[in-house]
Amino acid sequence: MDIHSNVESVRRRIESAAVRSGRGADDIVLVAASKTNGAEAVAEAIRAGITVCGENRVQEMLEKKALGAYIGAQLHFIGHLQKNKVKQVVGQCSLIQSVDSAELLSLIDRRAQELGIRQDVLLEINIAGEESKHGLDLSVLPQVLEEAAGFSSAHVRGLMAIPPISVESGGNRAYFALMHKLFVDISAKKYDNISMDFLSMGMSGDFEDAIAEGSNMVRVGSAIFGARIYPTNTI
Ligand SMILES: *Cc1c(COP(=O)(O)O)cnc(C)c1O
Repeated sequence: MDIHSNVESVRRRIESAAVRSGRGADDIVLVAASKTNGAEAVAEAIRAGITVCGENRVQEMLEKKALGAYIGAQLHFIGHLQKNKVKQVVGQCSLIQSVDSAELLSLIDRRAQELGIRQDVLLEINIAGEESKHGLDLSVLPQVLEEAAGFSSAHVRGLMAIPPISVESGGNRAYFALMHKLFVDISAKKYDNISMDFLSMGMSGDFEDAIAEGSNMVRVGSAIFGARIYPTNTI
């Protein structure tokens, strides 16, 4: 397992995909999704040039943060955020990518207001309408955008999506294209307090397709850190 060469290889693949879509490597933000990987592996990735780390679980993020794992990089929260953990996350990371309900957005706004800070967020969209997935349904999105326009402390900076796990290569391109259309349409509407800066989509198995369809932020885990090993018990 060589994190350095993995980061280099992912960077090269991102650059080729960006160039094929008329952009450059600098137009795509690479977020290293570091769940289950220890503070040492995260620090190693940062030494290899990673500038943004993404974590899924609040406890794990705060533990690794206390160990100094993210020094030299930005930190994003990319997992499902439970409402009772909002206080632990707001102000601890530069971007919460995974706002999946109107209520969560308003709790984040309120907490950021209490702290006197601005908290940047992305709205997570359940683009394939999967029962099992978190994310906003397309049907509620217009209303959530209206609400977001009225908030002063939670600032919507774009959209995020996790499409279905695709068995065939290219299987998610239609979902990525739909997300890009949404991104462009919302951008054109010029809501107050909403800037469509980031379209976060694409993971180890499909980031090149996502970039081809207009992603400018990819979240890559196993292609950098290797296959994840989940603990089977907590003894
Ligand atoms: C784990 C994770 C990723 C990265 O997944 P890989 O397939 O390992 O690249 C991206 N986004 C989210 C939200 C994740 O939980």
